[in-house]
Amino acid sequence: MEEDLMHDIKCVLIDKEQIRKKCEELGKKISSDYCGKKPLFVCVLKGSVMFYADLLRNINIDCELEFMAISSYGTGKSSSGEVKVVKDLNTKVEGRDIIIVEDIVDTGITLMYLVNLLKCRGASSVEICALLDKIERREREVYPKYKGFVIPNEFVVGYGLDFNEKYRNLPEVCILNS
Ligand code: 5GP
Repeated sequence: MEEDLMHDIKCVLIDKEQIRKKCEELGKKISSDYCGKKPLFVCVLKGSVMFYADLLRNINIDCELEFMAISSYGTGKSSSGEVKVVKDLNTKVEGRDIIIVEDIVDTGITLMYLVNLLKCRGASSVEICALLDKIERREREVYPKYKGFVIPNEFVVGYGLDFNEKYRNLPEVCILNS
C-alpha cells in the first residue's frame, strides 16, 4: 500500500480475507432466499461500489443491476441530515423485488429515505444488504436483512469508503486517525 494513503490510518478493521468470506456467505444466502424471483440489486454510489462488485460475483441466480447516488454527507465526517437523489435509477421498480446494497448504515437516515422512496414507487419488496453496521449510532428504525459486520463508532475508510473522496481504493476497511 502507498505510504501516503496509510499515513492517516490508525489500523485495519476488516481485512481482505474477512471481506471475501463475508461476500461469499451473503451471496449464498441471498441467492437461496431469492431463487426464482429475479431481484434488482441497487448499488448506492460511490461507497458501495467495491462491496457491490464482490457481492454480485457471488450471486448465482437471475438478477438485474442498477445504480443510484444519494447525497447526505456532503464533505467531512458528519451527516448533513439532508438526503437527496443525485443520480436516479434507469429502470422502473414497480412490482420488483429490490435489494439495496449499501456500504454502511450509520444513523439510518439515508436508507430510511431510500427504502421509503422505492416503496412509494411501487416496489414489491425492499431489503437492505449492508457491509457495515454502526448500530449504536442508529436514529431511524432501519435494520438490514443482510449485513456483513457490526462495527464500533469509529470513522472508517477504504474498500469504497472515503474521507473527502480519498482512501476509496484501499482494499481493506480501515479506521482513520481522529
Ligand atoms: P446514515 O444516513 O446512515 O447516517 O449514513 C450513511 C452514509 O454515511 C453511508 O452511506 C456513508 O456514505 C456515510 N458514512 C457513515 N459512516 C461512515 C464512516 O464511518 N465512514 C465513511 N467513509 N462514511 C460513512
